[in-house]
Amino acid sequence: MARYIFITGGVVSSLGKGLMAASLAALLQARGYRVRIRKFDPYLNVDPGTMSPYQHGEVYVTDDGAETDLDLGHYERFTGVSARQSDNITSGRVYRDIITRERRGDYLGATVQVIPHVTDAIKAFAQDATDDLDFVLCEIGGTVGDIEGLPFVEAIRQLRNELGREATAFVHVTLVPYIAAAGELKTKPTQHSVRELTGLGIQPDILLCRCEKPLPDSDRAKIALFCNVRKEAVIPALDAKSIYSVPLQYHAEGLDAEVLRHFGMTAPSPDLARWDDIVDRHQHPEGEVTIGVVGKYVGLQDAYKSLNEALVHGGMANRVKVNIRWIDAELFERDDDDEIAAHLEPMHGILVPGGFGERGSEGKIASVRFARERGVPFFGICLGMQMACIEGARNTAGIANASSTEFGPTIEPVVGIITEWMTAEGLEKRAEDGDLGGTMRLGAYDALLNGNSHVSTIYGATTISERHRHRYEVNAAYRDPLEKGGLVFSGMSPDGLLPEIIERPDHPWFIGVQFHPELKSRPFEPHPLFAGFIAAAVKQARLM
Ligand code: GLN
Repeated sequence: MARYIFITGGVVSSLGKGLMAASLAALLQARGYRVRIRKFDPYLNVDPGTMSPYQHGEVYVTDDGAETDLDLGHYERFTGVSARQSDNITSGRVYRDIITRERRGDYLGATVQVIPHVTDAIKAFAQDATDDLDFVLCEIGGTVGDIEGLPFVEAIRQLRNELGREATAFVHVTLVPYIAAAGELKTKPTQHSVRELTGLGIQPDILLCRCEKPLPDSDRAKIALFCNVRKEAVIPALDAKSIYSVPLQYHAEGLDAEVLRHFGMTAPSPDLARWDDIVDRHQHPEGEVTIGVVGKYVGLQDAYKSLNEALVHGGMANRVKVNIRWIDAELFERDDDDEIAAHLEPMHGILVPGGFGERGSEGKIASVRFARERGVPFFGICLGMQMACIEGARNTAGIANASSTEFGPTIEPVVGIITEWMTAEGLEKRAEDGDLGGTMRLGAYDALLNGNSHVSTIYGATTISERHRHRYEVNAAYRDPLEKGGLVFSGMSPDGLLPEIIERPDHPWFIGVQFHPELKSRPFEPHPLFAGFIAAAVKQARLM
């Protein structure tokens, strides 16, 4: 039977609860247990799909096509367990389902209420399909005391009552701030946060105390005393050098041992060799490369979380440090060659990531041209591939007015809206003027690669499966002129209708993909496209 570990946060947001959950799951997994991590998001959006990356960071897409919180990316990268739609729930989804049932008359005239109807739905979500698991870790978004989070806190309180202490643990993540003027760490915010939580009926079993200076033993004892937990269950969580060293650090502080003790379980020591290996690769690189990422949401790195990590993984695969320069595409909007050269000449590789809308698109197209003309490794992802096709159309296929219908009406729609595509269930159709939420081609789809292409060498395969999130596609009607201009369509959807990959055989490394390979890269298995791109950047660095 699965045991449940509920993770709440207190004092402030951004304490890294997601990483904490991912790290604890990785440690339990390294001891041989089967784990799954779930995320409760208290906001009212049905999913983060319609939220701005500035508000919420990246939207993480699962194999089964769910648009989810970026923490699910950490979960996958740390545990290798592919997340599903059923691993992320929001208040919006819970209320939508309940109201649909209410309208259908399913409640047989009863008054529909937060307790028990909303809390029952949350409990059912936590316990759904968990039979084959040893541990289910449930992270509650936000901070204890948030009004919208209350039904979730209430639901986990009820679960403790129903399943017992032996099957549930409460881990509370808090902040122990350092006050420079006093030269001391302060435990009071943690005490207040735990008091707030106990006021809601939850006594935490383990406290994970984020701190920027080592937590003195006396403070540990004080927190234990005031917060009613064992001293050994007060786990210091000192700021880490890199996210990949967090599991090792928490293990050294006794987190996984304390969790097992809580459940009365004994297990062999965890096998952490693969964690030691990636931390070593990350912290002792044998060289470095600089990659320019020309995008729109460069002000907030969470907007490109998985991309950032996938580049780091590509660096680990090649034992080099990857310096990422986030470049605002709007800088190149005027197509000023000197300006572009000043920014892009120092780069060993240029990447144009996914994105939405016209803003910055001319700058992205100008960056593709620079990479193509100068022979600099180029990697275009989703919108980046579409921009590479528009650049190719304009500058190597003589289609001067090439554009995307995403940017407005055009006489040369080299990129156009997808209105039909095949799924495992059959033909999927979209109305051009439908709702924005849930109208994209989402999730894992197969693609077939040309046997003699650069990408098939990189993958070592001719059938691949990758995750998608797009509403537009490269228009296959332009295949001939684009290929005559040197841009080869080297991967297509199995029905041969949707271009999935383009490449330039006359260039050292020029690849554009319609999907998001960054979503499937893991530190232990760097994605072949990222490993290959960074290897090409290493070569480029030698030439410069
Ligand atoms: N905006 C483009 C589309 O909808 C690209 C999407 C993306 O980069 N994820 O097709």
